[in-house]
Amino acid sequence: MQERTVFGKPLASYGQVQVRVAEIEAAAEIARMLHEIGCREAEAADRPGSAGVPAQIANVVKVVASDLAFASATSASQLFGGESYRTDGYVGRATADLRPFRIFEGSNDVLCDAIWQAAEKAAKTGGESFADAVRRAHELAGWPVPSVAAFTTDDGEGALPQGLRCLGGRVLANAEVLRRGLEAGLSSAALLPLRRRIARDLAFAEADPAGAGLVEY
Ligand SMILES: Cc1cc2nc3c(=O)[nH]c(=O)nc-3n(C[C@H](O)[C@H](O)[C@H](O)COP(=O)(O)OP(=O)(O)OC[C@H]3O[C@@H](n4cnc5c(N)ncnc54)[C@H](O)[C@@H]3O)c2cc1C
Repeated sequence: MQERTVFGKPLASYGQVQVRVAEIEAAAEIARMLHEIGCREAEAADRPGSAGVPAQIANVVKVVASDLAFASATSASQLFGGESYRTDGYVGRATADLRPFRIFEGSNDVLCDAIWQAAEKAAKTGGESFADAVRRAHELAGWPVPSVAAFTTDDGEGALPQGLRCLGGRVLANAEVLRRGLEAGLSSAALLPLRRRIARDLAFAEADPAGAGLVEY
């Protein structure tokens, strides 16, 4: 971005370019932390008597890491322009190679639904509710607590449409990674991609509960 000149100026001098680069750097910082979590969980799972990696954290790490990685690759294609279309170049190759990460070992849509359902089950036996999980993450980050009204149902068990469950699972996954990022001392700039995703998903749920699962990732 420093070396390439576009319309007489280095590409890096454009505001939108700087925002994209910052977002990709932030995603890389989050990815390093997720890698550490993955290594710790895998080590623990290798110890005698372990029941393996707990499904919830495995799903959270996979969904957040693969969503961020693919988003970073496609965002980078805006910066590399036509060069990014070539699959013999780094960005084109990365975009193509990262696409299946969101569909293998369970597509992310299905994993998000599983994350929601596991959290809902845990909440029934004294675990944290969805509203509490969202509130806690925002309070820890020092951000205003958003409305989660779209996720509350009056008519009880099983009434929430799958699209909303899927979206809620994504929110829980990003909120969990946000909390771990804060614990790990990640900068507030590094946490921005998570904040944007949580805010976007909650806003989608409020604005269009029926089509809520169809978030473009
Ligand atoms: C690169 C790559 C490597 C792979 N490697 C392996 C491997 O080594 N071993 C292995 O066993 N498998 C492997 N897979 C398979 C992978 O686990 C499956 O692709 C994945 O679990 C999805 O299953 P499927 O393709 O049968 O899709 P399906 O389960 O048929 O799903 C098709 C579509 O329906 C949606 N869907 C499915 N169920 C639901 C539901 N309950 N609610 C809402 N939507 C739903 C999915 O989101 C998806 O969009 C690999 C896949 C890829 C892409």
